[in-house]
Amino acid sequence: MKLLQDVSSVRNFTQKRASKQKIGLVPTMGALHQGHQELLKASLQDNDLTICSIYVNPTQFNNPDDLNKYPRTLEHDLKFLEKIGCNAVFYPPNQVMYPGEEQQLLQLSFGHLDNVLEGQHRPGHFSGVGLVVTKLLNVVQPERAYFGQKDLQQLAIIRQMVQEFFIPVEIISVPIVRESSGLALSSRNQRLSFEEKQVATQLYQTLLFAQQQYESGVSLSTIKEQSINQFSRHANIRVEYFEAVRMRDFQILEEKMEADVIAFCVAAYVGEVRLIDNIIVS
Ligand code: AMP
Repeated sequence: MKLLQDVSSVRNFTQKRASKQKIGLVPTMGALHQGHQELLKASLQDNDLTICSIYVNPTQFNNPDDLNKYPRTLEHDLKFLEKIGCNAVFYPPNQVMYPGEEQQLLQLSFGHLDNVLEGQHRPGHFSGVGLVVTKLLNVVQPERAYFGQKDLQQLAIIRQMVQEFFIPVEIISVPIVRESSGLALSSRNQRLSFEEKQVATQLYQTLLFAQQQYESGVSLSTIKEQSINQFSRHANIRVEYFEAVRMRDFQILEEKMEADVIAFCVAAYVGEVRLIDNIIVS
């Protein structure tokens, strides 16, 4: 596996490939787990070469404490990638990704997608995501790039951005990987205590409850109220939002419209750790 830390070594690696060899990019922030593994497996299957990027992108963290405490496990990650047959890993330092002046940092905004859910609660987050993903796509120039449905709104942002900027890449989405308890795998789970991890399963339990209610014809506004009530029974969970959105544009819905695919999305603090999850229903 090739270890790449700057732009010219990535370019060397990609330019040396045989003609018609396709590249898949899997962008991550490291602390790799089975969720990342599914993205990597999909890329390994679809492409001739897979590049995984590991970069804890400072511009997408609106909370400095979250950035400082984000798990960093490079040694483990490199072994993990080697083992599953990844061809190269790009793990640039900050100076490579952000060589310019901090005051001149580009800002991106995504209209409505910036004003709801993650956009509303994490100001500047999607600007940072948009910036780093554009940089990574421009450095690697992959035919395909892989993203998890775990970050459903991020996926919508990236699709919008790739379309608006005519970036020649196919965006592939991968379903959420969960523990047997239902908890969605996340690097941030490493920060949960044993008890907190048990409490955190309430996120998925409540999403399943919402899905069930939805299928029984209960109104979206009632489901939202019931779901938030369910969380209030657990002292160690603080819900930031629980919403039903229309998948096609992330409009928040109070009533269901027949033809729409809907996702229930939740963000909640378990202890000090902020977790997100979602379920798509149709
Ligand atoms: P992260 O390292 O958390 O920034 O995630 C890197 C990529 O892996 C993103 O596209 C995530 O959506 C995806 N991902 C993270 N956790 C999961 C999961 N449990 N299931 C599927 N994809 C995931």
